[in-house]
Amino acid sequence: MSVSINLIDNATRPTTAAAKAPAADGKPPLIGLTREELGDALVDAGIIPARQARMRAQQLWHWLYVRGVSDFSEMFNISKDLRADLARHFSIARPEIVEEQISTDGTRKWLFRFPPRGAGRPVEIETVYIPEEGRGTLCISSQVGCTLTCSFCHTGTQKLVRNLTAEEILAQLMTARDRLGDFPDRDTPAGAIVPAEGRKVSNIVMMGMGEPLYNFEAVKKALLIASDGDGLSLSKRRITLSTSGVVPEIVRTGEEIGVMLAISLHATNDDLRDMLVPINKKYPLKDLIAACRAYPGLSNARRITFEYVMLKDVNDSLDDAKALVRLLQGIPAKINLIPFNPWPGTNYQCSDWETIEKFADYINNAGYASPIRTPRGRDILAACGQLKSESERLKKTERLALEAMMIAGHGE
Ligand code: SAH
Ligand code: SF4
Repeated sequence: MSVSINLIDNATRPTTAAAKAPAADGKPPLIGLTREELGDALVDAGIIPARQARMRAQQLWHWLYVRGVSDFSEMFNISKDLRADLARHFSIARPEIVEEQISTDGTRKWLFRFPPRGAGRPVEIETVYIPEEGRGTLCISSQVGCTLTCSFCHTGTQKLVRNLTAEEILAQLMTARDRLGDFPDRDTPAGAIVPAEGRKVSNIVMMGMGEPLYNFEAVKKALLIASDGDGLSLSKRRITLSTSGVVPEIVRTGEEIGVMLAISLHATNDDLRDMLVPINKKYPLKDLIAACRAYPGLSNARRITFEYVMLKDVNDSLDDAKALVRLLQGIPAKINLIPFNPWPGTNYQCSDWETIEKFADYINNAGYASPIRTPRGRDILAACGQLKSESERLKKTERLALEAMMIAGHGE
């Protein structure tokens, strides 16, 4: 991959149509509510009688999640008067797209701005789209910043500003679908859900900024809506939630959300994991592995992904590979090796390619699928662990330093 920092140009600037007015109007959002809450909200606002609650909720659900509309005026089977009432009371607007960047490898990164909640300030978060052969994965953020301070993670150097709401988590998916043309055209017959095979966003991963299990309720609500078969309709098998190891919420994730699980493991003994992933001090490996074994629905067809970042001379020896295989014994697992993505100010380096391959071969021979995650979108700082908010964006000098680091890197 050539290394170049893609500055935004006019070709990649969002059109005004897609970057509709932010929901800064202070009206409560309808996106992110359950069907029941949706009906109740309309009744409570006094714009429909209680007996219509279910029917109206269903109607709106379809417009919001199947058709993807972001303006009440497009809901042509709802009377003009009711549309006007809806618009007076509620918001279904998309967030503002502050920036859209497209990497040399096709990866896209959006910087979204969400309006203040309560007395707070507007917040900005990043969402990344990774197109691959036969599928496209959207990497979604769950928090603005992160309270955890994994030592190799750029997001971890940014303080937590706040949790995202269910609406804001869904807005990332819905705005990406707008931009990628994943909602049906206006002239598609009503009722048609775009089939999974034809979609740009076929998979989602909760692997953006933040620790999703520290924002359990909002993440749960958003993912249940994303996987609802009469709406956004993403299969739960195509949704992966990655956690650094919030042990008490792991089994709940399987029971209440039912999506695929990924664990940011990165080390096979407590001493090293305490340093790399400090939440390990609270929930050590023994507890983490026990929670994984208890994850509902585990089978060879539904395996846990263990993420393992390759840090030069830190966790990349053959002994580490052996310890990894021992640790995971008996758990249906795949191991995802992530070449470390550098960021300005880090003391870590990525393992040499040869070392990564040897490591991968060992665990492969031990019977585990062990794909090496190809770094994507590094030129736009969209790779794992590189996300940060606009407020913390790189200064020009830092960008240049990063560029130099990547050129000096392991020769991609
Ligand atoms: N907070 C969650 C999900 C987001 S991070 C978690 O930690 O699981 C997604 C993955 O990227 C995690 O496995 C994380 O450990 C990894 N990661 C973080 N920083 C990285 C970096 N600089 N290079 C490579 N991977 C990184
Ligand atoms: Fe937070 Fe995950 Fe980064 Fe750790 S790796 S600091 S949990 S975002």
